[in-house]
Amino acid sequence: MFGYWMPFVRCKTPSCSRGKPTFLPYPNPPEVSSNRPLWPTDAWQPFLICRHCELGYEYTKQDVEWRSSPIADLSPELSVLDIEVRCVQNNCEFPVKLYLSADSATTKRDRDRKIESGCRKATCRAGHGVLLPLDIRKVGIASEIK
Ligand SMILES: [Zn+2]
Ligand SMILES: [Zn+2]
Repeated sequence: MFGYWMPFVRCKTPSCSRGKPTFLPYPNPPEVSSNRPLWPTDAWQPFLICRHCELGYEYTKQDVEWRSSPIADLSPELSVLDIEVRCVQNNCEFPVKLYLSADSATTKRDRDRKIESGCRKATCRAGHGVLLPLDIRKVGIASEIK
């Protein structure tokens, strides 16, 4: 068997999940002829917004599945954005961290709409919700979901 291990999660919206996995970026994946990586940790708890239904959920280690991929990376048209927005609490030091699966057709406007519709259950480390309208502090391409 050839290829590389690639982790993915299935969207938690029941009507969305079938056949629509979100592949997760994973740096330097091993070949499928060797053991599957022991990843993520028990503490892993990212909030990920689906690009199909635009809803976001927290994911844990139990949600991660693996498949083999012919390339050691996501397809070039796919990425996962690493986003920080402000929480509702004034003076709180913690941003709300979100991930959004995106493809090459995602415009800035699509992105902001998906963040806004998907972030409703997300919280900062102190448990505060997201400030609306959004105050986006950071957007980058995730090399790994932490
Ligand atoms: Zn979905
Ligand atoms: Zn906060």
